[in-house]
Amino acid sequence: MSPHSDSGHDDHSHLSDTELRVRSLESLLTDKGLVNPAALDAIVDRYENKIGPRNGSRVVARAWVDPDFKQRLLENASAAIDSLGYTSTQGVDMLVLENTPTVHNVTVCTLCSCYPWAVLGLPPAWYKSFPFRSRVVKDPRGVLQEFGLKLGTDIEVRVWDSTAELRYIVLPERPAGTEGMSEEALADLVTRNSMIGTEKAANPKAGKL
Ligand code: FE
Repeated sequence: MSPHSDSGHDDHSHLSDTELRVRSLESLLTDKGLVNPAALDAIVDRYENKIGPRNGSRVVARAWVDPDFKQRLLENASAAIDSLGYTSTQGVDMLVLENTPTVHNVTVCTLCSCYPWAVLGLPPAWYKSFPFRSRVVKDPRGVLQEFGLKLGTDIEVRVWDSTAELRYIVLPERPAGTEGMSEEALADLVTRNSMIGTEKAANPKAGKL
């Protein structure tokens, strides 16, 4: 396994067709007055930003406080994640990428939108967008800077291309000064984007929560 490779792209899911069908359905239901688009947006927002990524946040927080769990997570992510009860990883291999002071990982699906749904919920729109998918491979530092993450040249940036069979989740670094925090409070620092790799976990002292 290696960061960004062009192989393994033969069996991507074809979400464009699904998205088209969903959009048609939404238009029809809206036209008939059966659904309110604003309500749908609110539901999607909840799954993108709140409910979905909470599973991943708890996985990361557990890894921060429990070295044995972290070891299992790095060796066999699917089994470790399943052991916390997030069993919908079944059938899809997961790999956890550990950020360190010298290595920063970021994930993408260059062909479509393969994403670790079981732990992160719905992918954000930008993750599925062509500019992100194409540019993060060619110029990861530039793209990360646009997300507000400026990395020094001493930090190696690794870009990992997801496939239908293998999904990645980034294990962000535990922020400094969080030694006394509970696992639940730590989970609140783990943002969705920090598990994609486009930002770091929130620093409680920076008031970014
Ligand atoms: Fe894909």
